[in-house]
Amino acid sequence: MTVNPEYDVIIVGGGPSGIICAIALLKNGHKVALIDKKEQSLIGDKTCGDALDLESVNVLKEKLQLEYPYGIELSDDIHRMKIAGESIYTASTLTAPGFLVDRLEYGQRLLKNALDLGLILLSKSAVRDVIIEDNSVCGIIYIDKLSGKKISLRSKFVVDASGAYAVIRKLIPESLNYLNLIDNELSDEMVWPTYREIIELDSDQDHEFRNEIILLYERDIPIPGYFWIFSKGDRKLNIGVGWLKKETDMGSLKQFLKKKIDFYYPNRNYKVLKSGGGQIPIRPPFDNLVFNGGILVGDAACLVHPTTAEGHGPALESGYIAGTTISKALKQNRSDFESLWEYNVKVMNEIGILHAKGYLIRKLIENVGSKNLQFMINRQLIKDEEFDAIIRGQPPLLGFKDKLKKLIKIMPRIHLIIQIYKIQIKLNHVNDLYLNYPETPDQLPTWIETRNRLLGFNF
Ligand SMILES: Cc1cc2nc3c(=O)[nH]c(=O)nc-3n(C[C@H](O)[C@H](O)[C@H](O)COP(=O)(O)OP(=O)(O)OC[C@H]3O[C@@H](n4cnc5c(N)ncnc54)[C@H](O)[C@@H]3O)c2cc1C
Repeated sequence: MTVNPEYDVIIVGGGPSGIICAIALLKNGHKVALIDKKEQSLIGDKTCGDALDLESVNVLKEKLQLEYPYGIELSDDIHRMKIAGESIYTASTLTAPGFLVDRLEYGQRLLKNALDLGLILLSKSAVRDVIIEDNSVCGIIYIDKLSGKKISLRSKFVVDASGAYAVIRKLIPESLNYLNLIDNELSDEMVWPTYREIIELDSDQDHEFRNEIILLYERDIPIPGYFWIFSKGDRKLNIGVGWLKKETDMGSLKQFLKKKIDFYYPNRNYKVLKSGGGQIPIRPPFDNLVFNGGILVGDAACLVHPTTAEGHGPALESGYIAGTTISKALKQNRSDFESLWEYNVKVMNEIGILHAKGYLIRKLIENVGSKNLQFMINRQLIKDEEFDAIIRGQPPLLGFKDKLKKLIKIMPRIHLIIQIYKIQIKLNHVNDLYLNYPETPDQLPTWIETRNRLLGFNF
């Protein structure tokens, strides 16, 4: 334990995971500093598809009494998610209640909530290093915005909420990395470079996608990459594209997107209101997310849905779970990784379970390809309600009759149904596995061995 730390907790990053972690800790009476490299008025802003699921925001409302996005924070209410292989007009339609938000406005409101609770904010300050003593992280080193000097700051805990940059995660030494399960760097198979534009159509006509988000697994985008069209309200759309970093031959994301917009909106003028790119870590979470004196949340923990790339909701939820777990450890005057283990258990029970399923679905989509995906949608091989159940983490239970009917429907592409049933067996295992994530660290190696054998995971 650090001698005289200035803070109970230092949070690196003021995105959704960091801010919610701060609010949960402040509400429990702890002394919290949050450091972000951005200036204060830009905290919360992020190049994003802007979709946010209702379930995560419900957690914030119930546990922290935080209001849903409203007013200028809200661009559109979302009711449906459409998934298509090749044609936008024959998509599988899933219920997907949520919001298209203005990331800056929503993020600034959450920041204000935290400041009102007593948050100490160090903005325009980039964290560069961690302080490690007695085999525990006990502070950070950042560059002071005015003098340019390196400053050390000590705390009982450090939270890595720095998003895809994962500044703390990259610095965790092997001695603190239990079973070496936290990767400092991600492979090119687990990272998506993305580019998106927010456009406003220049006409009296609105677009046809109000209250919808659409994911298109098109033939010319290597799966699991996709092209998205999200409704941003009246005449406005958030449109983007991403593919795995390993697809080095694909060329410029920006040019690709322009081609797509021109294809979907030929002969129509539009204004680009905002544009930008970013990286998304796209893999199930590491099997351990804690270390002596610290915790990973949000994108730094790889808590992004591997099929839909939704990370905003998981960032909020993991921030809340981290804040409450750290608070318990502080009350017991502990900072060892075992005192934070409950975070692993809760995250795997609530988020890891969905993301493991998402990873299996991603593998299915990769294996069948966009053409077959469209064929499956057209023939209703996977019905909308089954797709819905899978994405929500409930494996569809199909009886013998259903299977027979489907078999007849898709002749002669029988291999597709075999692939679906193989995945279905694995999806059934995920519930058992992730709801039984070990309560203590010593049982983790056996759990991983069983999981990898049953699901075919190899990371
Ligand atoms: C193009 C794109 C589209 C996306 N679309 C969606 C979507 O539609 N729906 C969805 O749910 N998710 C989407 N995501 C993912 C979502 O944006 C993230 O999962 C989410 O923002 C993660 O939150 P976070 O708090 O972990 O990190 P972030 O929101 O990335 O916040 C990290 C913070 O850390 C700060 N920081 C970083 N390094 C340092 C440092 N060294 N020192 C100090 N501060 C630092 C940054 O300034 C930033 O404020 C998208 C991502 C991208 C890139």
